Amino acid sequence: MNNYFIILGAGKGLRFSQKKPKQYFKYKNKILIHHSIDKALESKLFKKIIVVASKEHKKKFNKYNKNQLIFVNGGKERKDSSLNALKKIKKFNPKNVLIHDAARPNFSIKLLKNLVTKLKKNIAVIPAIKSRDSIKYENQSNYINLDKKKVYLTQTPQAFRFKNLYNLSINQKNNIDDEATLFLNNNIKLKFISGETHNNKITYFEDINLSKTYFGIGFDIHRLIKNKTLYLGGVKIPFHSGLKGHSDGDVILHAIIDAILGAKSEKDIGTYFPNTKKFKNIRSPKMLKPIIDSLNKSNFYINNLDINLICEQPKVSKYREKIINSISKLINLNKDQINLKGKTVEKLGLIGKEKAIACEVIISITKND
Ligand code: ZN
Repeated sequence: MNNYFIILGAGKGLRFSQKKPKQYFKYKNKILIHHSIDKALESKLFKKIIVVASKEHKKKFNKYNKNQLIFVNGGKERKDSSLNALKKIKKFNPKNVLIHDAARPNFSIKLLKNLVTKLKKNIAVIPAIKSRDSIKYENQSNYINLDKKKVYLTQTPQAFRFKNLYNLSINQKNNIDDEATLFLNNNIKLKFISGETHNNKITYFEDINLSKTYFGIGFDIHRLIKNKTLYLGGVKIPFHSGLKGHSDGDVILHAIIDAILGAKSEKDIGTYFPNTKKFKNIRSPKMLKPIIDSLNKSNFYINNLDINLICEQPKVSKYREKIINSISKLINLNKDQINLKGKTVEKLGLIGKEKAIACEVIISITKND
């Protein structure tokens, strides 16, 4: 193992339009550039990892072991940054070197292994994918259709024999988009391997998914009384009793409301629907509606819902489909994202004696900023 991994992270990312360079934004709960470092470490393929970045960001790498990670100051252009790193590691007499853009956090360790393996028989190995879009090429204000089957989009990490890359880099005058360019410009054969479609480059601020996921829990219980209609999940259920309450007593919908409010840190159902005249005998779908409207308005969407209905009777299995259908319509969520489990209590207590029904709900919601 005489491999080195260079991560180029000195770019300012002008298209990113934020004060801080994109490689220092949090992405999937981690600083973007740390994804690449962590994967390189985890692969155990490299003697050292070299991070090329601006001096002012050096402290962002303090948590890494100095024996494994070398910090190198970035240059003016990409080619200068890359050369700074190559010069720094020359003294180790490396055999292979991989060069990677920090803005691609989603490559796999499998790809790293494949690149290193392929270097045994090649001097440059480049991951590339086919374009999904049709491609036009501008030539002196004329546009030409390119055959997308013959177009390759090159990605990083790119793998090279150190000596070959070093010799080409040291003589390179103009800036380049990637190291594969050096080899092509000098008519040196490259080995292309399949890249990874998910290994896309974070270029625009929108590429960083700033969504956040929250969980909420809801619980409700109501007594069963004669001469009242039983509603569960908005469905009228034939039963000897109904649920006592200021409203229709629909424990499922009440628990859902509390779960949503919980996930949004917005207190509880009683805050919005107190036991006042206004809400006397209100149907629960009417209580749920403004809660769902507000959820949508504030850019949240529901991922899934898991419900435990705790009762001796009625049998949940008999009404499961109807109840899920109803909830699906009320909260505008696919049926396969709603789960309803029936739970009896071994005839224990009020619930076991068919004097009450309880419900608990867990919800997961995501906010897109
Ligand atoms: Zn209730």
